Amino acid sequence: MADLFSRFRHPGAGHGSYKGFILALDQGTTSTRAIVFDARGAVVSVSQLEHRQIFPRPGWVEHDPEEIRLNARRVIADAVARADIGTEDIAALGITNQRETTVIWDRETGEPVYNAIVWQDTRTTPICDELEAAGDGDLFRERTGLPVSTYFAGPTIRWILDNVPGVRERAERGELAMGTMDTWIIWELTRSTRHSGRPTRGRQPRARHVTDVTNASRTMLMDIRTRQWDPELCERLGIPMSLLPEIISSSEVIDKVQRSGPVHGVPIAGILGDQQAATFGQACTEPGEAKCTYGTGNFLLLNTGTEPKTSEHGLITTVAYQLGDAPAVYALEGSVAVTGSLVQWLRDNLGFFDDSSQIEGLARSVDDNGGCVVVPAFSGLLAPRWVPDARGVIVGLTRYVTKAHISRAALEATAFQTREVVAAMNADAGVPLTRLRADGGMVVNSLLMQFQADQLGVPVTVPEVAETTALGAAYAAGLAVGFFTDVAEIRSLWQEKETYMPNASEEDRDAAFSLWNKAVERSVGWA
Ligand code: ADP
Repeated sequence: MADLFSRFRHPGAGHGSYKGFILALDQGTTSTRAIVFDARGAVVSVSQLEHRQIFPRPGWVEHDPEEIRLNARRVIADAVARADIGTEDIAALGITNQRETTVIWDRETGEPVYNAIVWQDTRTTPICDELEAAGDGDLFRERTGLPVSTYFAGPTIRWILDNVPGVRERAERGELAMGTMDTWIIWELTRSTRHSGRPTRGRQPRARHVTDVTNASRTMLMDIRTRQWDPELCERLGIPMSLLPEIISSSEVIDKVQRSGPVHGVPIAGILGDQQAATFGQACTEPGEAKCTYGTGNFLLLNTGTEPKTSEHGLITTVAYQLGDAPAVYALEGSVAVTGSLVQWLRDNLGFFDDSSQIEGLARSVDDNGGCVVVPAFSGLLAPRWVPDARGVIVGLTRYVTKAHISRAALEATAFQTREVVAAMNADAGVPLTRLRADGGMVVNSLLMQFQADQLGVPVTVPEVAETTALGAAYAAGLAVGFFTDVAEIRSLWQEKETYMPNASEEDRDAAFSLWNKAVERSVGWA
């Protein structure tokens, strides 16, 4: 691979630069990956390392920030080596990250005061309940675009301040810094001293303490309109503002990677939260354009333009991206908790097949779902229904139903849940979606993609470059350094691999969907 690509060493020629490559770092929930892209947005090399998932108690999920820090350096070095290029060939580094996962560390030593608390962690439920009970729910929703939830960083920061000895006092003395994983990695890569980041007598280390608008929009602390930290919200959560990073745009030169970094001197020039990065990587840069990532769960984002839109239909308002000084672009977001993980559940818990890819053959071995419907409400239902007390059901069982029917129904469940979120987006936007761009691990399943197009009644398109998340970060960084000229160039680089056209009659698709709705009723109120 390296040999093959080294022949195309400088495809950036014509951009007036010999630096023909962009590096993206994707710090995800299960792994950290570095990907080298060329000037056409094609993948040149990939390096990936998983990290430990730490479960100290039921409902608690943590990551070791030191492990992630080291993994980030290792995958960067490895991806560059695999691409057979030198640091001098890399125009910029872009960062994308698992959103909401939060770490607090000492500004002098760089040592975390506690593990990173992951977005899946539910330990802040009492803090969230307290906010709601105090009647603050509407304030947070109105000001930040977010519902009060354990997902977001604000309640997590509060928990660390309240529960880790000495942390509140140190925070109040201004000794600590907080960040999501973008912030943590950039602090690490821009520290000028080799080991501890310890300042030389009275001077702070020159590490940059920044986050971008998309990550900041997931904290419950940022005013979605001004895109600044909101003192009143920080006060309500009891969070000293000295902890918080500077909010910057998604595409600007932040600093060069310092001596201690594996790609010394390369400018770090872009940050996007993972779902926003995928949206940008899918070139959803015009209002009305939307993408859905089909992974463990599904994440839909709809570009709504330069004004934040408040959802009346159970969606979240979020920043999609901001390119330098240009106006910020907003999105409506809807998440479905269980999609690909239902496939894993059929594989691991029911033993229907050995590999996720086998579900398609099994589901295709029958003509339809045999009358059964699966509602995978394993931990309630998220957007747009928000029903915490729902639990999973398989209904419509008869002696006729086989594991092939259930597998088919499981794939259909992904499409039905996605249809519900799209319907909410259409209702909020007032203009119906005309096409959905799909990415993520499940899009290789053409039965699912076709069923999705049928259910939505609009074409579903899978792009040529499946690595949309890392690609989005690469685009953001490349734009900041002039490697890519403008958004028009990004749009021209997006290429479709396959489009699934809807071909079910309206009658058929609605009949299937009304059965789904009936099944959802059976799942509600169980817990
Ligand atoms: P994540 O980024 O959330 O970890 P991925 O985008 O890698 O997830 O997608 C992995 C998910 O896709 C898994 O839950 C897996 O069960 C599912 N998956 C993988 N291959 C297929 C397939 N051929 N059909 C349906 N689902 C699949």
